[in-house]
Amino acid sequence: TRLGAVELAPVVQGALSLFGDRLREEAVELVVELPEDGEPLRVRAEEVRLEQVLVNLLSNALDAVAGAPQRRVAIAAEAADDTVRIMVRDSGPGIPDAVAGQVFDPFFTTKPVGAGLGLGLSISYNIVRDFGGALSVAESGPGGTAFLLTLTRA
Ligand code: ADP
Ligand code: MG
Repeated sequence: TRLGAVELAPVVQGALSLFGDRLREEAVELVVELPEDGEPLRVRAEEVRLEQVLVNLLSNALDAVAGAPQRRVAIAAEAADDTVRIMVRDSGPGIPDAVAGQVFDPFFTTKPVGAGLGLGLSISYNIVRDFGGALSVAESGPGGTAFLLTLTRA
């Protein structure tokens, strides 16, 4: 697990590329907002594990919008001085208050047997902690859910 300076945009594109069929078949609108001007954004991370985190968050976002009247998933990144903030947002039903405290617990899932192991967020949380970053629920309500991934700028 070698941490280094990882260019963010290709990792985001790599994660998104896994969901092409699903986005199309489930008619999900995808919005990607990466800064295009200036130096490429680099974060302190390890590429494969960072992609795994993004895949987990995007997979949850797609599950959340399945069956929602409006199906929209957005991923946005912005740089601050010392950090990069990556937001994964969906237009799903939100996380019910009753389970909000458990979503990062290993094996916690509200999905049917076979649909989810309940490991995505707990693994992601640990990966991000290893990177020296943070993963949290930034927003959750009837308008949807946003997960915030904060990483050290490299
Ligand atoms: P899994 O996806 O296998 O259920 P995760 O660890 O990825 O496991 O997520 C745990 C639980 O957190 C989910 O079952 C779901 O209840 C909740 N959750 C995660 N992401 C979202 C989201 N974007 N919107 C609503 N609920 C979510
Ligand atoms: Mg999941």
